[in-house]
Amino acid sequence: MSTPTRITHLVGHSPWEGEAERTSEVFNPATGEVTGALDLASSETVGEVVAVAKAAAKEWGTVSLARRVRILFAFRQLLEERKDEIALAITAEHGKTYDDAKAEISRGQEVVEFACGIPHLLKGGFSENVSTSIDAYSILQPLGVVGVISPFNFPAMVPLWFVPMAIATGNTVVIKPSEKDPTAVNLIADLWREAGLPDGVMNVVHGDKEAVDALLDHPDVKAISFVGSTPVARHVYERGVANGKRVQALGGAKNHMLVLPDADLDLAADAAVSAGYGAAGERCMAISVVLATESIADELVTRIVERTRTLRTGDGMGESDMGPLVTRAHLDKVTGYVEQGVASGAELVVDGREGAGDLGPGYFLQPTLFDKVTPDMSIYTDEIFGPVLCIVRIDSYDEGLQLINDNPYGNGTTIFTNDGGAARRFQHEVEVGMVGINVPIPTPMAYYSFGGWKNSLFGDTHAHGIEGVHFFTRTKAVTQRWLDPSHGGLNLGFPEND
Ligand code: NAD
Repeated sequence: MSTPTRITHLVGHSPWEGEAERTSEVFNPATGEVTGALDLASSETVGEVVAVAKAAAKEWGTVSLARRVRILFAFRQLLEERKDEIALAITAEHGKTYDDAKAEISRGQEVVEFACGIPHLLKGGFSENVSTSIDAYSILQPLGVVGVISPFNFPAMVPLWFVPMAIATGNTVVIKPSEKDPTAVNLIADLWREAGLPDGVMNVVHGDKEAVDALLDHPDVKAISFVGSTPVARHVYERGVANGKRVQALGGAKNHMLVLPDADLDLAADAAVSAGYGAAGERCMAISVVLATESIADELVTRIVERTRTLRTGDGMGESDMGPLVTRAHLDKVTGYVEQGVASGAELVVDGREGAGDLGPGYFLQPTLFDKVTPDMSIYTDEIFGPVLCIVRIDSYDEGLQLINDNPYGNGTTIFTNDGGAARRFQHEVEVGMVGINVPIPTPMAYYSFGGWKNSLFGDTHAHGIEGVHFFTRTKAVTQRWLDPSHGGLNLGFPEND
């Protein structure tokens, strides 16, 4: 077994030179091997890094838009060229398949491409001659230092939702990645250096609750973009707001797919399987509940089962469709839900525990399918975040809609139907932030903003897109008067409104 690699903070472009009081282990979930020793920042270390970001903020906020765009284009090119290297690191620490790891970088890259349009996005308004010789206009200015706190499940894409937008709008960044798969952010930070970003604009602190709370409490951190589970999102939102910060805190999910009797059942079954089991269900947009109308439920379940039998679970670097779960503790938690599902009387149609032990020492669970799940069961009420799909049988569209709207989460949902009227009604009536119609995972493009409703997002601003520009800037409204040279003299009175 090789010696674990030390993974540390990046203070501007340089690795932190201190000695950490606390460290944590990073694992390869496909083998169980410890691959990294991660420095966990104390609140003092967070303070050191924030000071560097603050010192860089004044100058970066005045750098021309032309220069910012050149850096963003160079960064985008480097991300494209180094995708393989970053994807390898993601698969080695997260476990998802190598192709899936590359795909998440590509989705993040789309936000960089959107941010390349920042000169256009940062245009304020202008009204000429609102009164005699007086014009009114608005300008958008950066906030200063902003904090980003990201989850384990998209170690590249979620950081890329925020960092390019924050930097393009003239802010400096301190990001705290998940301690479970921290390497991707360090690799990406190095690309910013190569792209010509000045020292101190992009900084990384690694750590756990102590580092997060230090960012939330630090008076020089002006805004926090958080993504993670709902209890932590709520904590981050409440503590950040209490400290006077701007906060967008994206939380957990329990996404439903509604299948009406007229749906294309092959399309729906394909979607249920790809959205339910892709990335081992560790996606905030994963489908975890299929609401099947009774008349087609048997046939839909048969088609889903056929497809689960073809999925290969294994090391994400091998010939697999689905990798392991992220940690041993998470595997135990998800397996515990499978046991609870059985105990509560749901019908276990596909048992992913069978044969999982033969796949090696990693944290494997194969696709698992429950039928006849009822809304009182913990496999229905809780976010499992694993490859466990639940079928709830319903009698009508209205019953399905009611279940979705009663759910405390509101991240994503999708409907499968060939009735345009029903789809249109659904998009209007459903109380969820991101809606799909005959698509498995309705993740918005970079130029639309990403965010859920209810317990899936605290704060009012979604990630990236135009809402991202808004989140990372303050608007200043200016009223100016320049006297016409023919004007006779200085007028000390209040401007007349004519
Ligand atoms: P998590 O909440 O455990 O951790 C997220 C971040 O918060 C990490 O950086 C972690 O170090 C930090 N953290 C953990 N516990 C903390 C605490 N007590 N106090 C302060 N900080 C703490 O989430 P996770 O397990 O890394 O990620 C999975 C969760 O993220 C799921 O619930 C998933 O639905 C959610 N998620 C949501 C979205 C979205 O867009 N809504 C996207 C991706 C993931």
